[in-house]
Amino acid sequence: MAVPQKEVKDLQTLHVVNTPSDNYNNFTENSIFVENEFYTIDVKYPCTSFENLNKITENLIYPYIDNFRQQIDSKAENTYKLSIQYETIKYSDDMFNFKFDIYDFRDTESFNIETVTFDLSTGEQILLENIFKPEIDYVNIISQKVPLEILAKNPILTKSKLSHFTVDKQNLTIYTQINSNDIQSFKVPFNSVFNNLQSSFISKIENNENQKLIAITFDDGPSGVTTPVLLDGLKERNVKATFFMLGTGIEKYPDVVKRIYSEGHGIGNHSYGHKNLVKLDIEAAKVQYNAPNELLNSIVGTHSTVFRPPYGNYNDNIKSMMDTPIILWDIDPYDWKYKDADKIANHIIENAQDGDIILLHDIYSTSVQAAFKVIDTLHQQGFKFVTVDELIRRNGNEPNAGEVFRFERKSE
Ligand code: ZN
Repeated sequence: MAVPQKEVKDLQTLHVVNTPSDNYNNFTENSIFVENEFYTIDVKYPCTSFENLNKITENLIYPYIDNFRQQIDSKAENTYKLSIQYETIKYSDDMFNFKFDIYDFRDTESFNIETVTFDLSTGEQILLENIFKPEIDYVNIISQKVPLEILAKNPILTKSKLSHFTVDKQNLTIYTQINSNDIQSFKVPFNSVFNNLQSSFISKIENNENQKLIAITFDDGPSGVTTPVLLDGLKERNVKATFFMLGTGIEKYPDVVKRIYSEGHGIGNHSYGHKNLVKLDIEAAKVQYNAPNELLNSIVGTHSTVFRPPYGNYNDNIKSMMDTPIILWDIDPYDWKYKDADKIANHIIENAQDGDIILLHDIYSTSVQAAFKVIDTLHQQGFKFVTVDELIRRNGNEPNAGEVFRFERKSE
């Protein structure tokens, strides 16, 4: 009995459901589930904020689904099943391995493993050629580390066969296919091949623990002119910032808001119209607080995760209406006053410390230019730029609504 044509046709459009990841906030999970009397497709895979990385994952996963779907209609005596599940192996806060277990049952069972290793701070895929020095024949190095019991099964190690691996702090783990249902893994300890590793990879190992984090924030936007320039430069530098936006700007430049959101920056609320909230009655203050969230919801389907009151002014009434933390700042270069990119940048660079929040305004081109100089210089000093959300959660802290963050250090 063949599967009716209609069933197959229905499968042409797979319904992909996206949900938050259970344990991590730097990627989400996509799932596809189809079940009928002939077959089951049960697929899960991670979805990052980087388009290029998601393409890599899809290019690994989707051929299995396509192949399964194409062959299913001619044979339907059993209930067929395709299952793709993944395991997350965390190397550092930014570096993740995803190991996919692919189980395909049609006439016979077949089992496969696919892996990807991503740096989610830069959007780069990590390949073996990024781990070993370019002049090193890593196939040869790894071949010498194959355990005897695997060697006895005669695996043929070639560059393409070595594409399945994961990394943790101590080891490179290689998955090698012996035959269609036999995949063996073995570990290559990094310290046994240390001299062959690229220095950039070694520094990833070493910097893993105590990285200096800093958050750069932009108030009073978005602007239709200066914010897109800023977004281009942030993208080029792989930096995530946090935007405390005004409702008036959100209303005027929804496309800029969409870019801010889709490029992975932090979404902050800076009130609707930049009023001094402590001088308003509570109802008027509520409107100032809620209106940007309603606008954000209609434009990007989410609301802000952090709030910065205009002028940094708040009181207990304001705190009590919050459903997010209140974020102030540590470094204020008075960019709105000086409008001098070098002066602004130098002030920030001289004062930057681990855990700081930098205040700038993305409505001035001098502030945007200053931001680029700050990022380039602080990158060289080993700082990593994160969103305010990531900064306040760095040690596993869960901020409370209305809790105030300023890190107790003021400048000027
Ligand atoms: Zn402001």
